Amino acid sequence: MNYLSALQGMSLEQIRSVIEILQQSSDTYMFILDLTVDTYMVAEKATKRFPFHSIVIEDCSETLKSVIYPADYEMLSVDLEKCRSGEKDTHALEYRWLDRMGRVVWISCRGTVVTGAEGHRLLIGTVSEMGKKAKADNITGLRREARLRLNMESTLRDNPESIRYLMRIGIDNFKEINEKEGVEAGDEVLRELAECILKNVSESVDVYRLVADEFMIVDIGEGTGQDPDHIYKQIQKTIADMVKNKEYSRFYTVSAGVLAEDFSGRTVEELMRFTEFALNEAKRNGRNQMTVFDRRAYDVYLERLDIRKSLRQDINHDFRGFEVYYQPIVSAADYRLIGAEALLRWRNEKYGSVSPAVFIPILEESGLIIPIGQYVLWEAARTCKKWKEYIPEFHINVNLSYVQLYKSDMMRDVEHCIQEVGLDPESLVLELTESGYIETNDRIKELFKDLKSRKIDLALDDFGTGYSNMRYLKEIDAKTVKIDRSFVVQALKNEYDFNIISHIIDMVHSLGSVVCMEGIEEKEELSKMMVTKPDMIQGFYFGKPTSAGQFEKDFLQTTDSP
Ligand code: C2E
Ligand code: MG
Ligand code: MG
Repeated sequence: MNYLSALQGMSLEQIRSVIEILQQSSDTYMFILDLTVDTYMVAEKATKRFPFHSIVIEDCSETLKSVIYPADYEMLSVDLEKCRSGEKDTHALEYRWLDRMGRVVWISCRGTVVTGAEGHRLLIGTVSEMGKKAKADNITGLRREARLRLNMESTLRDNPESIRYLMRIGIDNFKEINEKEGVEAGDEVLRELAECILKNVSESVDVYRLVADEFMIVDIGEGTGQDPDHIYKQIQKTIADMVKNKEYSRFYTVSAGVLAEDFSGRTVEELMRFTEFALNEAKRNGRNQMTVFDRRAYDVYLERLDIRKSLRQDINHDFRGFEVYYQPIVSAADYRLIGAEALLRWRNEKYGSVSPAVFIPILEESGLIIPIGQYVLWEAARTCKKWKEYIPEFHINVNLSYVQLYKSDMMRDVEHCIQEVGLDPESLVLELTESGYIETNDRIKELFKDLKSRKIDLALDDFGTGYSNMRYLKEIDAKTVKIDRSFVVQALKNEYDFNIISHIIDMVHSLGSVVCMEGIEEKEELSKMMVTKPDMIQGFYFGKPTSAGQFEKDFLQTTDSP
């Protein structure tokens, strides 16, 4: 600050005019604080943004109190006192001001003490808004997450009821844009979106850029703000118009997660997590929409995470709490026991017995289905080997998840298992539990071929639940089609579905495959469904899934002992 030496001895008026000239070309706010008589002079533009009632302030201590964030006032006073007393000649502090709307603004204040006319000690310097400088995002010009966190921290502490809502916005296909068109295109989209957002929110609303493709709108309202739904729709429309104007050269949509509730007692971490959850929900629900944070849905999500943790722990403790149950499969010709389906059970200390409908999807999502799938395969293979001593043609059905197909070396695992156990491949049937994935993927097709060539049969599970169709049957070359219980229940209720099942079974037969009908619970159901000519039956009528020991007692030891 060499030029300051030129100011030595100048009158306050003279200094002020120099400052106003310098001020024009700067985006900081210049100031002079006359420490001797406690008078503050600030550049005019600062009075527009902050609650200074004029550019010259004589009751300095009082006015500064309305501009400076209360908690930072003491720290500032101490520093200024040192400048006043001559203990130091420079001032450099980062602290908070409040703008005209009462919102927190982080500023960086730098100044030097010079001696003015009549020997007054004058602190001359600049105030810059930190959000406008390094703390802001270079691509969009918006403030970044660190600033959002600081601002929210103080607002939550001092004025939580002023927060109306937070809206986290994310681009639905940002990764794709970046990958297909390059990072520059991605940056351009971020800039466009920032503009679209700013165009649609009022001045009293803060907008921040978060990580990657996400933005946060914070409405710390004056009671005049628009509701988030309206804002989101406007943003959506602005983007759609822009995409159209650019002749669809690039297409994207945005989703949003909103948090609007009582903010008292909340932490910044919670705000970040809740808005992230709401945004993810919007994306999960199909993207291009806004979701309001729902505590109950969040609790369910947390419980799923906790169940996942318990599953992982139990798997790591040598599959503690897991057990393979077996449900009989009988021949439709004479109701003879010819096989069983291996069905996983899990009992946990905290959660008790959990339904496979709950824990199987969690195992799939987390990839834990791979180790547990191996466990089921080995248990089932060993059990089958043993039971074949009672019934030589006995076969075991093991459910396979698509995650196992895609993410593990299924062929090697299966081969290794049956070799080690000494089970002939014809005794193993792999059931594909979800058919929606059987898209024409070459790797998967290869796997099906390999299994076939090794004489391991495949069954198409869940037939009739909406996913399966005859094309899959051909594609995976499945020997067996398992008609799902829900479809059977429909057929028992109405003739139309009954006829469809009949025709499907005829078709399956004409393709050289066989049908296993699931879910027969009553004798009458059996006699009615037998008309459709299934080849195998699996249902509570013949036996519920049960432990290996119980299965032996109920179904095997009654036959001739080996
Ligand atoms: P799924 O493979 O279709 O298995 C048949 C399900 O129907 C079993 O439910 C069985 O208990 C039930 N069921 C059989 N007969 C009847 C009946 O007469 N009435 C009624 N109401 N239900 C009957 P569970 O054991 O709850 O298993 C549900 C699903 O979980 C299975 O459907 C399968 O998709 C999945 N699953 C179970 N174990 C495994 C496993 O080891 N690996 C994989 N990937 N999935 C598994
Ligand atoms: Mg099954
Ligand atoms: Mg099934």
